[in-house]
Amino acid sequence: MAAVLLEGKTPAQRITAECAAAIAQVQQRYGVRPALCAIQVGERPESERYVAQQRKLCQAATIDYTLRQLPADSSEKMLQALIGELNARPDVNGIIVQMPLPAHLDNKRVTAFIDPAKDVEGVHSENLGKLILNRQSLAPCTACAVIELLTSTGMDLYGKEAVVVGHSEIVGKPVSLMLLNRYVTTSVCHIATSRRGLLADHIRRAEILVVAVGKPQVIAGDWIREGAVVIDVGINCVAGKLVGDVEFIPAQERAAFITPVPGGVGPLTVAMLLRNVVIATQAQLEPNA
Ligand code: NAP
Repeated sequence: MAAVLLEGKTPAQRITAECAAAIAQVQQRYGVRPALCAIQVGERPESERYVAQQRKLCQAATIDYTLRQLPADSSEKMLQALIGELNARPDVNGIIVQMPLPAHLDNKRVTAFIDPAKDVEGVHSENLGKLILNRQSLAPCTACAVIELLTSTGMDLYGKEAVVVGHSEIVGKPVSLMLLNRYVTTSVCHIATSRRGLLADHIRRAEILVVAVGKPQVIAGDWIREGAVVIDVGINCVAGKLVGDVEFIPAQERAAFITPVPGGVGPLTVAMLLRNVVIATQAQLEPNA
């Protein structure tokens, strides 16, 4: 029997509605609207797309959205000064630096300038470190979306065998820690696993499979364990069409649940950004709550 599709739209609508209610409460209690400020250095078509998406999302959720643009040849010092100014402003609750930055700037050094309390993408080392301590607050949005989808299956996670393919700092590593924090037995595979020819062996054992690689069909459908939950984070453009990392049709025949691409993790990631803005705003306004 074909797997149930784990679509992101329905949970994204629920989370967006929860955020709208929380924002209304903040407005009523404090007379302010949450405010998000994005910084863009130089011009890139993909950044423009993200900015447009963020603006639309914030408008719909009654969050103030401001874009600060710096020229492509801006120095690290200029960026540090701008982030410092936004960190100090009580009327800015969240800060996003659009990545990737121009090649002369170091993404990680720049991220470190953001006040962890305003790091709504959950990428500051302090927020990532909290995942190790199982004290999650602001966490990477895509990793949160993966856990939300997994939870929506109703599966008892305790002791399950999970395989995460990809170990990036924004997806693979945080997802692995979030799974560990839920007592899931978690293996993390990466390029070396593939090069040793061991990827299929790991995947055949996975009751939960999370793939975040960025290569179409890197996971063959017949590797999927019968009844597995498959969360495909990958986004690839093949012949003008968006596809994930998993060979979808044969995988759907074997899995119990599978995310479509597009329409799975993506819409929920956007909702998680909203949730992080709400969490950050509430924590700043009610530090002792
Ligand atoms: P990334 O930083 O490029 O990481 C990719 C990971 O895959 C790396 O850990 C890499 O290992 C590993 N890898 C590469 N080739 C492999 C192979 N043949 N076998 C096993 N592992 C392999 O990418 P990312 O930022 O995590 O994103 C991954 C994908 O998710 C991309 O398609 C991206 O567009 C998508 N994405 C989607 C969303 C969403 O909202 N839906 C959000 C973020 C990202 P090494 O580092 O060891 O080479």
